[in-house]
Amino acid sequence: MPTNPIAHISTPKLTLIGAGPGDPELLTIKAARALEKAKVILYDALVNPDVLKYANSHAIKRFVGKRAGLHTYSQEDINKMIVEYAHTHGAVVRLKGGDPFVFGRGYEEIIYAESFKIKTEVIPGLTSATCLPSLNKIPLTSRGMNESFWVLTGATSDRKISNDIFLAAQTKATAVILMGLKKLPEIVAVYEEAGKAHLPLAIIINGSLKNEQIIPGHINDIEEKIEDEIIKGPALLIIGEAVDFYLEKMQLKKTRMTQELQF
Ligand code: SAH
Repeated sequence: MPTNPIAHISTPKLTLIGAGPGDPELLTIKAARALEKAKVILYDALVNPDVLKYANSHAIKRFVGKRAGLHTYSQEDINKMIVEYAHTHGAVVRLKGGDPFVFGRGYEEIIYAESFKIKTEVIPGLTSATCLPSLNKIPLTSRGMNESFWVLTGATSDRKISNDIFLAAQTKATAVILMGLKKLPEIVAVYEEAGKAHLPLAIIINGSLKNEQIIPGHINDIEEKIEDEIIKGPALLIIGEAVDFYLEKMQLKKTRMTQELQF
């Protein structure tokens, strides 16, 4: 017998929700409303716990991400938990950072749940890939400068540098690289090899959160710039001419401050 009487009345349902990059205000209205109604929420490490303030206080909220020192759940464990909760509680929300379909394995959870005849719905989230450049006033496309932007992973599932980075480096496209910090030396080498040592690059760490940090630089000096930095939290790289707008802005600010000091 299911522990919850609703379970055998309604069709069990999984709602996959994108929580956005961190700032709870960047959650969509649709996501906030779904959280308010949720009975069970399974959330990832990338999800800012403050987002859970939108959830009902009686909801079961379970952290299923990876965090040092805590039990970690495999994708298979999570899939099984989704099915179990959907059956015992009628509905389950799976809350993931950014957009669940951008390097989020969201579709795997959907396919698994549907194989158990569980109804599914996806509520998209703002992906860090486009949201964080925007928040920092870095255009991903600029008229006359480039015609596309690419969202890439720094590391493939077998922990190698993605071959697509070699291709992106051949184009004028802005490259937004997720999970790329550990591969920075290799990424720098690829762009140098492509003759782009002077291309601007920015690293955004803990984007949209109170402790957001942005490190601007160029392919040939970025490693030096982060040498003494202690980087804790998710980070993404933006590489391309368009990053210059940010650098110019910083330069203008510096010039103004120096002028103010002189008067
Ligand atoms: N589905 C997520 C991405 C998951 S992959 C999305 O759409 O945003 C995880 C990677 O996303 C991190 O390693 C980092 O590269 C990037 N990322 C996610 N949130 C971030 C944040 N707040 N600040 C910086 N990078 C972030």
